[in-house]
Amino acid sequence: MTGANLLPGCGRTKAIAVLAALSLSACTMTVVEAPAAPTAPAAAAVPSVPMGQQWLYGSAEGAISIRQTYAQLTSYALAKAKARPADSVIIDEATGKPFACGNKPLAAVFDADETLIWNIGPMRWFALTGSEFDAKTWDQWEKTGTGKAAAMPGALEAMAALRAAGITPIANTNRSATNAAGSEQTLAAAGLGEFKHGETLFLMGDDATGSSKDQRRATIASRWCVVAMAGDQLGDFRNAFNKPEAPPLARRTMATAAPFDGLWGNGWFLFANPVYGPSIRGGFDDIFPPETRWEPQDQQGAR
Ligand SMILES: [Mg+2]
Repeated sequence: MTGANLLPGCGRTKAIAVLAALSLSACTMTVVEAPAAPTAPAAAAVPSVPMGQQWLYGSAEGAISIRQTYAQLTSYALAKAKARPADSVIIDEATGKPFACGNKPLAAVFDADETLIWNIGPMRWFALTGSEFDAKTWDQWEKTGTGKAAAMPGALEAMAALRAAGITPIANTNRSATNAAGSEQTLAAAGLGEFKHGETLFLMGDDATGSSKDQRRATIASRWCVVAMAGDQLGDFRNAFNKPEAPPLARRTMATAAPFDGLWGNGWFLFANPVYGPSIRGGFDDIFPPETRWEPQDQQGAR
């Protein structure tokens, strides 16, 4: 046994602990990393449920808010049905005025997603996988989600009350016309009753105007006297409001300016959606105006 590369204890039976194994033939410093002791695989990060989804899909506050809106809509629509209004609550974008009711049958127009139904299936999937909305997954959901979408709180009671009063619920949604059967079945399976494509269900692809619902609204208003309209996005009321690129304050000013300010809660009914859409795309400067800026005294200028 020679050489300067002897390790302390080399040639004796002393156990050398842990991290190095020696090439004992030469008892030289051929040091090999010992395999790490087997350990449990690192636990995957547990995804958390986004706050907006907690509020909308799980909280008492979210459910109560939705029920309140449905109750207000139902009271409003039933009162209007008795009085037989002259005008629909749908604006004719060509004239800027409401469509006339004439002798048309009564209807109430609803968006579908997060207005009639909760899309809990794909939202759970997106949250669980940490993924953003994607059109391919959503397309599968429209085709196969029957039985997994839940009616919004108060929606069943509202549909029943409207139908009993002779007001036909109509859905105008940006679900795809190619998945019409899936959406008809999804709404029916949620207990909301019949929505029939082309009659009481209007879908993206029904006309050549894409995601704008204006033309579909005009088609509906040509056949029906619409006494109430509901949705969770501004585009559910007028496409002119649907400017996702507009800063939050500009959108807010636009949608609440006269003459539209008088329609909210008075023919137009909005459901809160803190989960998705242009309403939650503001930055710090959009949401916290400079004049409201405040800092703790001991952290002045820290941010
Ligand atoms: Mg919606």
